[in-house]
Amino acid sequence: MANTLYDALFKPHEASEATFLRLKDGSTVSYAGFLALSARFAHAMAEAGITPGDRVALQARKSVEALAVYAAAVRMGAVFLPLNTAYTAAEVDYFVSDAGAKLLICDSASEAALRSVADKAGAVLMTLSGDGSGTLKDRAQGKPATFAPAERGPDDLAAFLYTSGTTGRSKGAMLTHDNLLSNAEALVDTWRFTKDDVLLHALPIFHTHGLFVATNVILLAGGSAVFLPGLDLDDLVANMPVATTMMGVPTFYTRLLADPRLTHELVAHMRLFVSGSAPLLAETHRDFEARTGKRILERYGMTETNMNTSNPYEGERRAGTVGQPLPGVSVRIADPDTGKPVAAGGIGVIEVKGRNVFKGYWNMPEKTAQEFRVDGYFITGDLATQDADGYVTIVGRAKDLIIAGGYNIYPKEIELLLDEIPGVEESAVVGVPHPDLGEGVVGIVTARKGTTLDEATLLAGLSTKLARFKQPRRIFVVDELPRNTMGKVQKNLLRERFAGTFK
Ligand code: ATP
Ligand code: MG
Repeated sequence: MANTLYDALFKPHEASEATFLRLKDGSTVSYAGFLALSARFAHAMAEAGITPGDRVALQARKSVEALAVYAAAVRMGAVFLPLNTAYTAAEVDYFVSDAGAKLLICDSASEAALRSVADKAGAVLMTLSGDGSGTLKDRAQGKPATFAPAERGPDDLAAFLYTSGTTGRSKGAMLTHDNLLSNAEALVDTWRFTKDDVLLHALPIFHTHGLFVATNVILLAGGSAVFLPGLDLDDLVANMPVATTMMGVPTFYTRLLADPRLTHELVAHMRLFVSGSAPLLAETHRDFEARTGKRILERYGMTETNMNTSNPYEGERRAGTVGQPLPGVSVRIADPDTGKPVAAGGIGVIEVKGRNVFKGYWNMPEKTAQEFRVDGYFITGDLATQDADGYVTIVGRAKDLIIAGGYNIYPKEIELLLDEIPGVEESAVVGVPHPDLGEGVVGIVTARKGTTLDEATLLAGLSTKLARFKQPRRIFVVDELPRNTMGKVQKNLLRERFAGTFK
């Protein structure tokens, strides 16, 4: 039977003894071995009553088995719902009941806490620990190593992926087989992936970056991945000489730059470094090139759309930009209020259309309707400009735009200037309630090691560079900026923390 995603990503490898995953301890898992494992899991899940269309939630540490649950869900036509390992039982409760999951697979350590969550939702509970053991594996024992894929077409759902929750409560993005497949095809093509590629995979597999971008690209190309539990510099350094590519969030690159082992020689075997999920500072881009001779390729995407734009493989990779629209993805920069394209070079909201764009937010028909234009473009909520060559430069999220005294203020412009002040490591600018202005601008910075910063110097550092109305009224020095697991600065937490500044 036809199954869009299974047929493209997994089926071609059923009999392949080639390496799919290399693990931290040096052991390897072949494609055939991985697919046999996923077939056994699919039998165990089917025996527990899972049928096509059912949601299968997974909150488990990164492991071969956890990835095999994704493959099992695809082949049995279930909807895969991976959950951030950092979520508490109360949060898992929300996702499992919101999605109406029929199966919840969790670490043995959280079994006791999640038992009532599963019971309440009427979901079967199975366990899967970091070492692969648990009741899922027990139930899969002795099951056949093949599984007839369920019939699934391009428009059928493959996954519910909840957004990261940076701007509010996470929303369940409904992704179809064709959403995922079309994007994997565009990325393999744009980034020139082949069966000879070895991807350094240190990202989590509950987020679109590590799960779909990284994994689907390797599956489609038939390459292999060095599948690491998380970001550990010793592991990256040890495996760099056998790898050809790496995908990371900006933190990967800043952490590598802080390590003296990052040299030209170390990366000699690497053909591509990709960054995304959060803005990469132009400075990081330049420093990385100076140290290694490699230009990081930055791309832009989101849970709802997969990847939208990418710097070119062969053309110019421009620091501070997220590149041009991927093949098959239409991008326009529109007036947030009207949806009409802005004048060339102007700031507007990024809107996208294409096979990559999701079906809508689960259980939120009104929210979904609000986020689409009548002509089918999805309103991303990210503000940007696009130059004559098609390169997109993100200036921030619409939700982070500050309106003070009736003026629009883009935090990024101020952050870039703050970052230039000697001693400043990084910065974030937010708007908080202000009695006269509506919102007042607040800067938050961290100091470089060994330096101390004071507010007066920081304020003075901006005074000649920015119009008065854009200048922060207060600048605070903090130890670190709050970030989520994908390296995104959580401005909502900063807004809460500094909400009383002007009261
Ligand atoms: P929520 O939608 O729940 O508030 P979120 O938008 O952070 O959370 P994700 O879908 O994980 O959840 O992240 C997508 C967002 O990440 C994009 O909308 C954009 O703001 C940001 N992003 C991704 N790649 C880049 C990039 N290269 N540069 C700047 N921002 C990026
Ligand atoms: Mg979002």
